[in-house]
Amino acid sequence: MKIYGNDAILSLIRTMAAQDRIPHAALIFGEKGMGRRTIARYFAMAALCKSGNAPCGTCKSCRKVMQDIHPDVIWAEHSGKKNGFSVETVRTICKDAIVAPNDGERKVYLFADCDGMDSRAQNTLLKLTEEPPPHVLLLFTAEHRNALLPTMLSRVVPLAVRPCSPEECRMALTEAHECSPADAERAVQACGGNIGNAVEWLEDTDKQELTRQVAALTEAVAKRSSYEVLRILAGFEKDRQTAAVLLRLLDRQLRDALVMQYRPDPPRMGCDQRSAQLLSGQLSLSRFRKLHTAVQEAADALQASVSVKLTLAALGGALSV
Ligand SMILES: [Zn+2]
Repeated sequence: MKIYGNDAILSLIRTMAAQDRIPHAALIFGEKGMGRRTIARYFAMAALCKSGNAPCGTCKSCRKVMQDIHPDVIWAEHSGKKNGFSVETVRTICKDAIVAPNDGERKVYLFADCDGMDSRAQNTLLKLTEEPPPHVLLLFTAEHRNALLPTMLSRVVPLAVRPCSPEECRMALTEAHECSPADAERAVQACGGNIGNAVEWLEDTDKQELTRQVAALTEAVAKRSSYEVLRILAGFEKDRQTAAVLLRLLDRQLRDALVMQYRPDPPRMGCDQRSAQLLSGQLSLSRFRKLHTAVQEAADALQASVSVKLTLAALGGALSV
């Protein structure tokens, strides 16, 4: 099992396994697409590996975890509109956790994407998290650390996933996903070090088009071309959700443009380096504040169900100043 990037977390997991100090609960958190589930699976492998060099990746137990057929690795099933976990699911897991493992020394319960896990489900799980039987390992993944309630959070080891370097992302795309070097380069330009996003981006022409629009919009803002800004924004009037994504991506471009003034090659968040660089040359701190505030206010308005057309028209005015 080859994992690209996140060496610090992987090495910590190996050390905990080697010293027999695997905790009872951990939260792997960070942006979607950066390998949270892969790291959770690696953690499960390390906890269950039968070799002295956990996770070896070759013993029977490691292979079963990789194939998702290990009887002591249980993925909690999602349910409901918010993609959370039902109280019934959690109760069943709490009962099952008391029973000794089938195969190995531990039972690993994985709760993926916990951002939609409501407080009822978490409170039902609280006792197991506070006083787990010695063989239990609970692994949670989420976008944000505060997806878990403070009472839960105080009992788990938090592990923050980081984006890969562009080079690691290029390697992952060409080696593990069989992309051409040219495609890998385009995807890395658009998605930075988020491998999951890069793979999705290459498969999704709508996402590629959105990246082009964000780049064009950033360039228009840099050139203070009010006609061009309004023309691009007008293309999003009919779709509130896509307009919200556009604003999020634009805000990251603004952030990159500002940071580029202080560091020549900063870690990127935006989807187009060239236009961010162009904007960076024109951007005073006070203009950045104005632009950032305008984008935030527009995003809030979209969330508050204000007319998309009006919101984007107002934003267009603010972006061209
Ligand atoms: Zn192993």
